[in-house]
Amino acid sequence: MRYSIMFGKTRHDPPCDADSVNAKLLAQAGFVEKLAAGIYNYLPLGKRVLTKIEGIIREEMHSVGGQELLLPALHPVALWKKSGRDETMNDILYRTSASGNKEFVFGPSHEEAVTPLAAKYVQSYKDLPLSLYQIQSKFRDEPRAKSGVLRGREFGMKDMYSFHVSDEDLDKYYEEVMTAYSRVFDRCGLTAHVVEASGGAFSDKYSHEFSVETSAGEDTIIICKKCKSSQNLEVAEGNVVDPDGTDEKELSLEEIDIERGFSVSDNAEAHGVPEHKILKTVVYEVDGGGLLGVVIRGDLSVSGVKLENYIKKPLRPASPETLKKVSLIQGYISPVNMPDGVGISFIGDNSIKNIKNFVTGANAFGKDYKNANLGRDFVIDDFADLVEVSSGFECAKCGTSLTEIKAVEVGNIFKLGTKYSEAFGLNFTDSDGKSKPVVMGCYGIGTTRLAGTIVEASHDDKGIIWPMSVAPYHVHMLTLGNDDTSFAAAEKLSSELEEAGIEVLFDDRDERAGVKLNDADLIGIPVRVVVSKRSLENGGVEFKMRDSEDSDIVEIDEILEKVKNLITK
Ligand SMILES: [Zn+2]
Repeated sequence: MRYSIMFGKTRHDPPCDADSVNAKLLAQAGFVEKLAAGIYNYLPLGKRVLTKIEGIIREEMHSVGGQELLLPALHPVALWKKSGRDETMNDILYRTSASGNKEFVFGPSHEEAVTPLAAKYVQSYKDLPLSLYQIQSKFRDEPRAKSGVLRGREFGMKDMYSFHVSDEDLDKYYEEVMTAYSRVFDRCGLTAHVVEASGGAFSDKYSHEFSVETSAGEDTIIICKKCKSSQNLEVAEGNVVDPDGTDEKELSLEEIDIERGFSVSDNAEAHGVPEHKILKTVVYEVDGGGLLGVVIRGDLSVSGVKLENYIKKPLRPASPETLKKVSLIQGYISPVNMPDGVGISFIGDNSIKNIKNFVTGANAFGKDYKNANLGRDFVIDDFADLVEVSSGFECAKCGTSLTEIKAVEVGNIFKLGTKYSEAFGLNFTDSDGKSKPVVMGCYGIGTTRLAGTIVEASHDDKGIIWPMSVAPYHVHMLTLGNDDTSFAAAEKLSSELEEAGIEVLFDDRDERAGVKLNDADLIGIPVRVVVSKRSLENGGVEFKMRDSEDSDIVEIDEILEKVKNLITK
């Protein structure tokens, strides 16, 4: 391909509204062009990357028996009413109406389309298991369309749906897909962490997310480098490290007058103690259950999801009005000498068990207690692991210090069970002659998001560094100087490589050397071949990998073999 005629060129500066590395580099290098927030044109270079990513996904989905089809993007709203997601996903649904007052939904997902379709063909256990997938545009009315192609209103997705006779069969297949997913991300040059999704108390827990570490990530995950395990921040388990002084003697309780701010750090400073010596009480309102005070070390935070999972009721932090109503003084609440009649119960995080001589509020403005001790000065009936884990906690399995990383979710898999088959009457006759609902799983990978994630994970200050497997071309060829011999040699070599199946982007423009070399770095094709008078005099062409600083002179006859080896590696 000659770069001079390619549609979509590099630009000198990134677009001024680019809000992330992928938005900046993909637009500047001529892969995408933004139409509106969260809506992108994919130019020829960008489309080639997407096609390669999709090719890898297709191969891996076929390897687990997936059959590709194409479902419509436009769904009658009646299907979404049937599943109930007309309401539960209302916030993100794009709706449109057609003639005759018919209402439609632009599919953000396709359970509502694929389940009734499967119901037309699946009758007997002999028709199962079955796995169907498509690669298609999805639509979500995303209030925060940002981060370039990572969070779009219209985006590309591979979604696969599997159908089974039993939970056991789904479980087995789910594991197979999980392995295939790891291969997809691996082949795209990414390391994906498999995270068991939190979901909270009200969603099923049978789902996993595949997350790639990048500083642009919106999610935080906790990893143990030794166990190679990953956990969602909200539900991560880990052991808090006890500070020094757990063996100190219990001193006598003192009530003191104090002038201080409300934050833990203000509090610690006013008392001249470290933050872990502050006994913090976070008050929640529990649906139908009154007030609940969670007592935790001052330097730690409560995980709302862990708490909700433990209480098994919806809850939210108590508002200042609620606290006022029961005469609780914000910033001075504690389980020590709580006045009667407030109607608050306390639950303790395990972290407070080993600390002596806490500083805590005295349930009155401007009054604190010093040397409050568990058991002697206050009693907690119920303890649980309610702490939000962060870097520095120890892995519960191996004791290694845990690491907190920012990550982008590039894929997720769910065990749907019979939720959709029941809604859409997808039943089968089992070998025992009985009619049963089909058990389903679903498996998504954001294809456009994956392209953006690769850029986030693989770039330098000069531009993108594409892995060979998804690069728009294998070789970026260019000549230096206005020299006919070099140009002819580059043209000939390009044709020879292309005939052998190597994809070449030949920068045939009459541009300065600096411009062409900078563009090559910006576009990020893995192999750069420079043909110049000097390289030819030295017996060949200059060969350089995008991810390396070093270049070599390689004989023209050897280039083909060298690139072929890199592609098949
Ligand atoms: Zn570990």
